[in-house]
Amino acid sequence: MTLTNWAGNTTFHAKEVHHPTSLDELQRLVAGSSSVRALGSGHSFNHVADTTGDLVVLDRMPELVEIDSAAAKVRVGARITYAQLAPLLHKAGFALANMASLPHISVAGSVATGTHGSGVTQPGLASAVSSIDLVTADGSLLTLSRGDADFPGAVVSVGALGIVTSLTLDLVPAFELRQYVREGLTPDALADFDAIMASGYSVSLFTDFRDTRVWLKREDELTDPDWYGTTPADGPRHPLPAMPPDTCTGQLGVPGPWYDRLPHFRADSPPSGAGDELQSELLLPREHAVKALRELFAIGDRIRPALQISEIRTIAADELWLSPFNGRDTVGIHFTWVRDVDTVMPVLELVERTLAPFDPRPHWGKLFTRFPECPPRFKELARRLDPTGKFGNAFTRVLLGE
Ligand SMILES: Cc1cc2nc3c(=O)[nH]c(=O)nc-3n(C[C@H](O)[C@H](O)[C@H](O)COP(=O)(O)OP(=O)(O)OC[C@H]3O[C@@H](n4cnc5c(N)ncnc54)[C@H](O)[C@@H]3O)c2cc1C
Repeated sequence: MTLTNWAGNTTFHAKEVHHPTSLDELQRLVAGSSSVRALGSGHSFNHVADTTGDLVVLDRMPELVEIDSAAAKVRVGARITYAQLAPLLHKAGFALANMASLPHISVAGSVATGTHGSGVTQPGLASAVSSIDLVTADGSLLTLSRGDADFPGAVVSVGALGIVTSLTLDLVPAFELRQYVREGLTPDALADFDAIMASGYSVSLFTDFRDTRVWLKREDELTDPDWYGTTPADGPRHPLPAMPPDTCTGQLGVPGPWYDRLPHFRADSPPSGAGDELQSELLLPREHAVKALRELFAIGDRIRPALQISEIRTIAADELWLSPFNGRDTVGIHFTWVRDVDTVMPVLELVERTLAPFDPRPHWGKLFTRFPECPPRFKELARRLDPTGKFGNAFTRVLLGE
């Protein structure tokens, strides 16, 4: 059977797919393979997870969810999804500080690509990782924890360092949020970008570079009826305007648990356009947000034929070497494209050219054409842990300049 990613735009080229059932079996597999990579839940839109060698899926490994209430941490198996994990944490009185737009993705795959949600004080999901266990090239198990010299290179790793078997995540006390959708944000109102994005725990703008709606996730009620000149949506909304909202998490200001409000999409439904889409995202220093958005609104007529919707989010800076948010508070400009590569690629190149003066970095798990410079210390770490390039693929070879 042909194995593809979630969107079906990428076919995997593995000579064999393995489902190890124990750590010992995984270690022997890695030690004996000359080319091996892990696949998470397969939600990336490019070839980042692909290999022509052995592809490892950890879905039959022993389940692991160990909550340490005193330390406010949880240790999880790498293949667990946020959808599986979140209700268990909530039941124990805990939460993750943030989540992506969908909970269906695996923890290891998400942090490996720098996956993020939104929030001016919220870094990417990888920042919650305090320790990581991985099987390295010779089959031995390496644990790296916050404070270890190599740790900042090991979390956002695009799978280039080894097969991650488990991760320990920071927890916060469980909390509730209210989600509001506001319609009719004018392009002029975007001058208040910083204030708008700071007016909730997590704020997203959905725009086609003509009409803009705001997804506000707040702890308290939104009482201003004219908030930034917008009107409240008169019913639930889907981020893709033509889609029915029943796959979306609760809106209209009704309070709900963090894991049923932070993602836009419900765990029990297919997310977003149910696979009928491609995605790209460029991550810029947040100080350029208003100028960059003005440039995109100015070429909106040329973007729209390839676009379903764009999402604008903010992500706080981190110190992880390969993280798109390394050292800079960030604005993420995301594009949900139509599922037609020939239509999308010229528009993606136009968007990349337009945003180039703002020093963009790509989302590792989405479509892009311009690889940024790889931080030298990540290259050194990859070569030291994997001298023969066993965990490499076409994607990492370009990244590492090999
Ligand atoms: C509908 C949709 C919505 C999305 N929304 C968001 C969003 O809100 N925010 C955002 O930032 N991104 C978003 N994404 C992108 C998504 O979060 C990333 O593509 C993420 O990597 C998906 O996780 P995964 O488990 O599917 O990873 P995969 O695509 O399976 O793998 C990604 C990378 O991780 C590596 N990897 C996976 N498991 C391991 C392991 N055990 N050890 C070592 N390496 C491993 C793979 O080799 C690969 O390099 C979205 C994607 C979709 C399809």
